Amino acid sequence: MPISEFALIERYFRHGGVKRGDVHLGIGDDAALLESPPGSDLVAAIDTLVAGVHFPLGSPPASIGHRALAVNLSDLAAMGARPAWALLALTMPSADESWLEEFTSGFSALARAHQVALVGGDTTSGPLCVSVQVLGHVVRSTAMLRSGGKPGDVLFVSGTPGEAAAGLALEQRRLALAGDAAARLRERFLFPTPRVALGERLRQFASACIDVSDGLLADAAKLAEASGCGVHIEYTSVPVSEALSSAMGNTAARELALTGGDDYELCFSVAPGNVAGLRQELPPEQWGYARIGVLREARGACVLAPDSTVMDFSHSGFDHFDR
Ligand code: ADP
Ligand code: MG
Repeated sequence: MPISEFALIERYFRHGGVKRGDVHLGIGDDAALLESPPGSDLVAAIDTLVAGVHFPLGSPPASIGHRALAVNLSDLAAMGARPAWALLALTMPSADESWLEEFTSGFSALARAHQVALVGGDTTSGPLCVSVQVLGHVVRSTAMLRSGGKPGDVLFVSGTPGEAAAGLALEQRRLALAGDAAARLRERFLFPTPRVALGERLRQFASACIDVSDGLLADAAKLAEASGCGVHIEYTSVPVSEALSSAMGNTAARELALTGGDDYELCFSVAPGNVAGLRQELPPEQWGYARIGVLREARGACVLAPDSTVMDFSHSGFDHFDR
């Protein structure tokens, strides 16, 4: 017998999640009652994942649950905010209990890791679609914006972008590879790590920040544009993981690092006077970020070769293994 909507919410969403003192009323009534800390800005983000568009049909349910929360935590990380609460709107074709079990395990593990309480949501039937809203806090007027960069600011990126795009290509069998490298790349797509702790710490140093969801070059361009300037990215400074180079060679790997999406790393600018403090307080080897370029007066985003000529990245890195 199919499980009722009420029983489903009781079984999978109401109990066993993160408990927080600032949740005066959670799941079960018409709306949740939440208390924000005084002197803070409430930070809100929502993202929808549509099956077959934002993840392949038949993706592991735990990954869908993880990613739906992770992409929102990443948005809060980019603002330097601390996440507190989440709402989950779940549309699915049928109440498949083993699917739900795995989905909630993926969602809950990440929620626990960040002490995020699920405080409400909506459950409907239809083609699979997952919408998560995350709410969090930041000390009033201290959030990092995309628009705070200035010409001369140094640009950094966390992690090793491009791996998630390769992982997705592996999932979709557009790329063939076996062994440890393949496992790592898949993991980077299926279970991205939102850089929440880094985002919070960066508020002290960064002039602007954006999370990398559409590709490093595209998102760096958005940061620059919002800041009213342009950006130079140094091709050889772009970090490339061993797994990515072993999958496709150095050149294609670096191109994918610039153009692939779904990484959920942070791209941020730091005024020259703050760079030493950043490196001291948040050692790059420990926090995992690298200098990749600089903001400049002239508009537009360019990638510079070692001889300072401008490289063309109008094509997508996917071209290398698409069909
Ligand atoms: P209403 O009809 O008033 O919107 P629902 O029956 O949809 O109420 O939901 C009852 C309670 O369960 C509400 O507190 C709602 O926030 C919560 N809820 C429903 N679906 C989910 C879900 N997928 N995840 C978390 N909470 C949910
Ligand atoms: Mg109601």
